[in-house]
Amino acid sequence: MHTTMTSLLAADAPIVMTPTTPHLRIEAVTKRFGTFTALDNISLTINEGEFVCFLGPSGCGKTTLLRTIAGLARQTAGTLIQRDKDISTLPTQARDFGIVFQSYALFPNLTVFNNVAYGLRNRRVERSRIQARVSELLALVNLTGSDNKYPAALSGGQQQRVALARALATEPGLLLLDEPLSALDARVRGHLRSQIKALQARLGVTTIMVTHDQEEALTMADRIVVMNHGVIEQVGTPAEIYHQPASAFVASFIGSMNFLEVTAQGDNQALLGTTPCACLSHTLKVGQAAQLAIRPEAVALSRQAGALNGEVIGIEFLGPFQRVTLRLTDVDQTLIADVPSRDSTDLSLYQGQVLGIHLPAEAARLYPAGSSQQ
Ligand code: ATP
Repeated sequence: MHTTMTSLLAADAPIVMTPTTPHLRIEAVTKRFGTFTALDNISLTINEGEFVCFLGPSGCGKTTLLRTIAGLARQTAGTLIQRDKDISTLPTQARDFGIVFQSYALFPNLTVFNNVAYGLRNRRVERSRIQARVSELLALVNLTGSDNKYPAALSGGQQQRVALARALATEPGLLLLDEPLSALDARVRGHLRSQIKALQARLGVTTIMVTHDQEEALTMADRIVVMNHGVIEQVGTPAEIYHQPASAFVASFIGSMNFLEVTAQGDNQALLGTTPCACLSHTLKVGQAAQLAIRPEAVALSRQAGALNGEVIGIEFLGPFQRVTLRLTDVDQTLIADVPSRDSTDLSLYQGQVLGIHLPAEAARLYPAGSSQQ
């Protein structure tokens, strides 16, 4: 039987409608500490069931935004609406969220069971129901049997799993995670990252996680909110943020990026020294100083000289790819190119040689000069 590609796709990949009901609307939120503006007129909608990461460098305001949502900090101006309810002035304890902090923040004098049961007892849930719910939660975070242990007897990763179970105990509408993995070592962090992601997807709980770790955000988030100096630079899926950075800041903050000093020209063009380079369409003026951003993996090298050439001045073997550093021949600028290590070609043979460089136009974006500084 002849099966077309279309019917294969139709059978194998049913179209899943993603719900876009707003869970939380942040409207024009500003937070000042004295004369310092930590959040500057932030507006953002987070949808039901979404996993959103606030990502940005230290001091960009991501923790302040999370604390404002939790009511732990009060906004100077603006409104917060959760499921159509204005929560802007509600005290923390009247808001509907569970939270996990960076440092485990478990009660050291309470057992694992009592830590997880804490919120349920406060709500006067009946004993048998608490027993069942705590068992269910401990199973969910793979800690069945640890009921009677004290936090000090658990590893960092286990403590964070207890903190997660505690945050989820009262079935909050919103889960807030404040750098929950940053105190853990790399191996535990990677493992817990996938556990949290799987758990969130299974429960469908709307989740906001603060992180300064781009890999964490790229692997876990449905959408990433990139922040800098108290404003949102871009909101998008991990692929959008990586492939279509809206600003030079986002381009420089996520992944590796070359920035070449160029002069903007009309017609999707820039001049690198005297060499014309094609790029994506831009809004800069002809003659304006600009930077052309291109990812190292998009740069193509060839043995034949081309319009743009560079001398190989460094080669690093990085496993899946080799990173080649080139000094451009016509202008005093360097460029890196990541070449996949598909075969065992020893690129070190090219050290000192001049190679042709191709910058594909569809991967080259123009930003105003000097705007990539963090
Ligand atoms: P980090 O990853 O370092 O925690 P962040 O992006 O989470 O950074 P915030 O903690 O939100 O940043 O802080 C944003 C800015 O507001 C920083 O410059 C910080 O110094 C300032 N800030 C935060 N809390 C206060 C406070 N209580 N009083 C004065 N300034 C504050």
